[in-house]
Amino acid sequence: MSITCHPTEDLLLGYAAGTLDPGEQIALATHLLACSQCRGFVGAMEHAGGALLGALTGEAMTDGALERITARLDEAAPVQTAPPPPSKHLRELGGLPAFVRRLHTEPWRWVAPGLKIQRLKPAAESPTRVFLLKAKPGIRLLPHGHQEAEMTCVLTGSFSHDGQRYGPGDFDCGDHASDHEITIGNEGPCISLVAMRGRLTLHGFVGRLIQPLIAI
Ligand SMILES: [Zn+2]
Repeated sequence: MSITCHPTEDLLLGYAAGTLDPGEQIALATHLLACSQCRGFVGAMEHAGGALLGALTGEAMTDGALERITARLDEAAPVQTAPPPPSKHLRELGGLPAFVRRLHTEPWRWVAPGLKIQRLKPAAESPTRVFLLKAKPGIRLLPHGHQEAEMTCVLTGSFSHDGQRYGPGDFDCGDHASDHEITIGNEGPCISLVAMRGRLTLHGFVGRLIQPLIAI
């Protein structure tokens, strides 16, 4: 897997420090599962945090920060209190951390021609909504922007915007300043995990027409 697009260092630091909300945590954990480079960065940050704590308390610092990051990707999220109903589709979909594959889901929902979403329910309340987005190969999505941040992790297939192609493992982070006009790659269905705050806003006549129907 060749990964070229990564989360910002601020997001990786937030993951290492445990300051992300449950929805953001799912998006970062999904990328980290695929990306050894970012796992190494987060591991180094945890190690540095442990060293700082050790200096403050006078205790010896422990090794194995990177191993702990990898273990977190296979364990239940710390906020999870009870095992939710298993989702067959999530269990069979590759590229998701074990704790994400155990999340409860809503049924797939049609949102536009060639486009479906499936909402995932984080184990704890989160201001960031998480869903799978499934798009048919070769289609072009309506031009749209975001009121707040949007993180996308590609699981299968690919998409492109602004001259950049995003394939399996790649992480795309847009914000309210972003205006996307996305084309789905021809190699097969594109399934991505999306973590989004705020509302999606569609542009153009058709976009404004169907905006009330979509409500992502
Ligand atoms: Zn990465």
